[in-house]
Amino acid sequence: MIDVRSDTVTRPTPAMLEAMMAARVGDDVYGEDENVNALQRRAADLFGMEAALFCPSGTMTNQIAIKLHTQPGDEVICDELAHTYLYEGGGIAFHSGASVRTLKGANGRFSAQQVRDNVNRRDDAHLPWTRLVAVENTVNKGGGGCWDLAELRAIRAACDAHGLALHLDGARLFNALVARGESAAEYGSIFHTISICLSKGLGAPTGSLLLGSRDHIARAHRLRKLMGGGMRQAGYLAAAGLYALEHNVARLADDHAKARTVAEALGGVSYVRDVLPVETNILIFHLDERVTPERYLGYLAERGIRAGTMGRQTVRFVFHLDVSDTQVGDLLAAVRNFH
Ligand SMILES: *Cc1c(COP(=O)(O)O)cnc(C)c1O
Repeated sequence: MIDVRSDTVTRPTPAMLEAMMAARVGDDVYGEDENVNALQRRAADLFGMEAALFCPSGTMTNQIAIKLHTQPGDEVICDELAHTYLYEGGGIAFHSGASVRTLKGANGRFSAQQVRDNVNRRDDAHLPWTRLVAVENTVNKGGGGCWDLAELRAIRAACDAHGLALHLDGARLFNALVARGESAAEYGSIFHTISICLSKGLGAPTGSLLLGSRDHIARAHRLRKLMGGGMRQAGYLAAAGLYALEHNVARLADDHAKARTVAEALGGVSYVRDVLPVETNILIFHLDERVTPERYLGYLAERGIRAGTMGRQTVRFVFHLDVSDTQVGDLLAAVRNFH
């Protein structure tokens, strides 16, 4: 079975499981789990940020961050493709009572000028107060594309000028760091809060981290409890996260190469209308009108390949550490032979 529906489908390797089994655990709600504390310290240091909080999911780290930065009635600016807006169950409304101003960016990436153009004046009582800008890197629905650091710095300057907070949904930030040869610390210096996922391309079974100032993380700790995300002997999961940060970051380049190889093949077949530019491990393409996604996915499924759609005529393949070279060969044969 070849599963390219998502990079969340990976299973821990024997070596990761060994690291998990060896964890000495304590009750993390009391702050007594050594591995959770080590993981939080490690991640904060990597990004040059003051503190970090281990949470069950990326959705929770994002939604806690949005709640940290807003009050009900405030407004959040994000791209119209943003995961925080589209795929977190309406959490911005539910948890934070904030409204959202979506921007139309280039495959999920907007400009500092667009931010400046969409900040509400505070002296007009009709308008919600703009409080937060949320960025996603890489952009999932944008085909895994990466932001330019210069634009992110310009967005931070626009936020500073208008008193706005800046949050990064970095569920796949390590893919961007590897693809662009950038450092985590550069990101730590631009954003007020960052969330990263250990359970996507890094291959841990579950877990995300929220990074920020000591004050942000102290408040986030209470919000995590309020949302029901306080975990007890979470050190088994944190041990997997530490293992993932140690062993599974540099290898993301392999996933990127696999995505590029398959993208090239798709560029040469007549049933594909277009392929979004591939920079990381996500490959999104649009089928020609004659082919329904159902028929295409059915064809792949008959060949033991599981893939997913992302809206009209849109198919997504995501590459990860459980997709072998042999499987890429089989996938290439399948996409070339479809008719
Ligand atoms: C997967 C993902 C998340 C959070 O996912 P969880 O499944 O809640 O861990 C957040 N943002 C992006 C861009 C994602 O792809």
